[in-house]
Amino acid sequence: MARTIEICPVCKKATITLYMGGYLGKVYRCSECDYVGPVILEMDADEYARMVSDTQ
Ligand SMILES: [Zn+2]
Repeated sequence: MARTIEICPVCKKATITLYMGGYLGKVYRCSECDYVGPVILEMDADEYARMVSDTQ
């Protein structure tokens, strides 16, 4: 089974960490572009590798 990775919706890098979690839901933070918010992208490692090679 493929590993799921969490990706920043702004810079498309897999540098998302959980910033805050609680009653109101989770908030994530990107260490690359300083995005903070509840929205992240999730995809499996193969898909991510494909997306990265498409954009370069
Ligand atoms: Zn980012």
